[in-house]
Formats: sequence, C-alpha cells, structure tokens
Amino acid sequence: MIYAIASGKGGTGKTTVTASLAALWDRPVMAVDLDVEEPNLHLFLHPELTGGETALMEVPVVDAARCTLCGQCAAFCQFKALSVMGKTLLAFPEMCHGCGGCLLLCPEKALAPGGRELGQVVSGHFRAGRSEDAGFLMGRLRVGEAMSPPLMRQVKARLPESGAADILIDSPPGVSCPAVNAVMDADVIVLVTEPTPFGLHDFRLAVEAFRPLGKPLGAVVNRSDINRSGDSRGAGMGDSGVQNFCRAEGIPVWAEIPFSRAVAEAYSRGEVAARAVPEMHAVVLALMARMQGAAASQTTGEALHA
Ligand code: SF4
Ligand code: SF4
Repeated sequence: MIYAIASGKGGTGKTTVTASLAALWDRPVMAVDLDVEEPNLHLFLHPELTGGETALMEVPVVDAARCTLCGQCAAFCQFKALSVMGKTLLAFPEMCHGCGGCLLLCPEKALAPGGRELGQVVSGHFRAGRSEDAGFLMGRLRVGEAMSPPLMRQVKARLPESGAADILIDSPPGVSCPAVNAVMDADVIVLVTEPTPFGLHDFRLAVEAFRPLGKPLGAVVNRSDINRSGDSRGAGMGDSGVQNFCRAEGIPVWAEIPFSRAVAEAYSRGEVAARAVPEMHAVVLALMARMQGAAASQTTGEALHA
C-alpha cells in the first residue's frame, strides 16, 4: 500500500508526522521523500545512505550538419525550447520538458538525445518499528533546476524494486503539479493541517485538489489546541473551522496532535517526535491503525466491486 502524507501549505508538521509514522510502522516499509525541492525526512530518520545516482532528463542535441532549418521541431515545441534564428537552430535545454516529440518528428534525424541533470536519487536504510532494515529513498533537485515532477517520476520508478509491503511518501506541500504528482499513485492520502486561518484556507484547497482522485483521505490536525482558548481571532476560523469543515465535508480526522514543547524540542534536535515524546508515540500509533484500516477497507471495497 502507498500512503501519501501531504499538506496544503508548508510548516504544518507533515515531515514530523511522516518521520514518526515511518519510525513506528509495524510492517516492512519504505520511507520516500518526494519533497525534492527541499527534502528533509533524512534529517529525522538518519538513514544510512548506500546509493545515489544522477537523474537525467532527455533533451535534444542539434546536429547542425544534418539540420535543414525546416523549423518543424520549433513549431512543434510548446515550450519554445527550440528556435530557428537565421541560419542556426538554437536549443534551450533549460526550457525543455523532455517530451521527446521533436526527436521523433525531425525528418532529417538531426536531433539526438542528450541529458540535462535534474538532481540526485539517493537510497539507503533506516531503523523502523519492527523492521531493522527499512528502505529509504529521496529525490534531491539540482540547485537551479525548475522542474521537479520529472525527478519525482524517476524516484517513483524505483518504488516497485523496494519489495516493501508499505510505502510512506513525504509529499511536497501545496496543491500544484508536484504535490498532485506525489499523491496520484497513493492508495491513501493523509492531509496534515493546523487550526489557523491560513491552515484552514490551504486545507480546503488541498481537499478540492486531492478528493477528485477518489482515494480514502483523512486529516491530521497538528497543534490542535492552539486556538481553543476563546481567542476571538481564532473563533470560527481556527480549530472549530477545521473541525467544522471536516464534519461538513465528511472527512475523518484521524489524529489530533496537541501543541507540545517536547515535540518542538525533539524536532529541533533532529529526533523522531514519536520516539522522543510518549504522548506523540500514542497518537502516531493510533493514526497508523486508522491509515491501515482505511487502506484495508479500500481493498475490501474494490474486491466487492470486482
Ligand atoms: S525538424 Fe530537424 S531538420 Fe527541421 S529544423 Fe528541426 S532539427 Fe532541423
Ligand atoms: S523534447 Fe519536447 S519539450 Fe523538449 S525541445 Fe523537444 S519538443 Fe520541446
């Protein structure tokens, strides 16, 4: 089963939750950091990194001796990565999306596949709940590279090799293309939010973006008690807003994590919060059971409809 841990905005505690789940998971598991622009799951799981390879994207390289400057490739490319300028065909590899269309289209076979570095795919192992040897995989985007989905696809292509029963994905925050790319292959989506006006706003956007995928989806409300004091600025917008929204939309709240200085201190030391703080340990075990229950009911439902 693939579980994606996502959030509508950054800073909600998504990676804290992912690291805690990975550390306590009770089946063979692989933890995957698909937040390739800013991967930080390894800072908490401290995996032993055993492999790394450069990820490349195919971009066209022009053979000027063959090119007749017909311009078909430039007209085809929707991203303006090819352009006929006077007596030269210019290629702009940084603008290429790697679709490969121009290479197929050129009647003179004047375009050859070259490679643009996207970043690194790094693999390793860490110590998890029952498994001493849980898998770890991470994408790390090259500094200056603008496109993360092609690197994410190369990380995801390695998942079938893992052999793990379950995969936990730390997804990029937000609802743009990288975030959707991270959750689209998941069996279960966990949305981490916080009871603030911004948290609620971005949680709504995430629900709108991910629910059409038709997968079981549950919420984790982090720092769940920060707006329960009767503070008028929070009333109706913070905790009660998130809870009311979940109720109205039929979204189960799989966990509430109260604000805890001990969790914040564990985070600052680079420790797994669920290992360092007993209260967090109990909350994460309950969350794990709910996630696994949602995955099981999904499987049962599919079997009944088969
Ligand atoms: S389609 Fe081929 S021949 Fe025509 S401009 Fe492009 S590279 Fe040159
Ligand atoms: S591979 Fe696709 S995106 Fe890249 S230059 Fe060719 S047509 Fe454009």
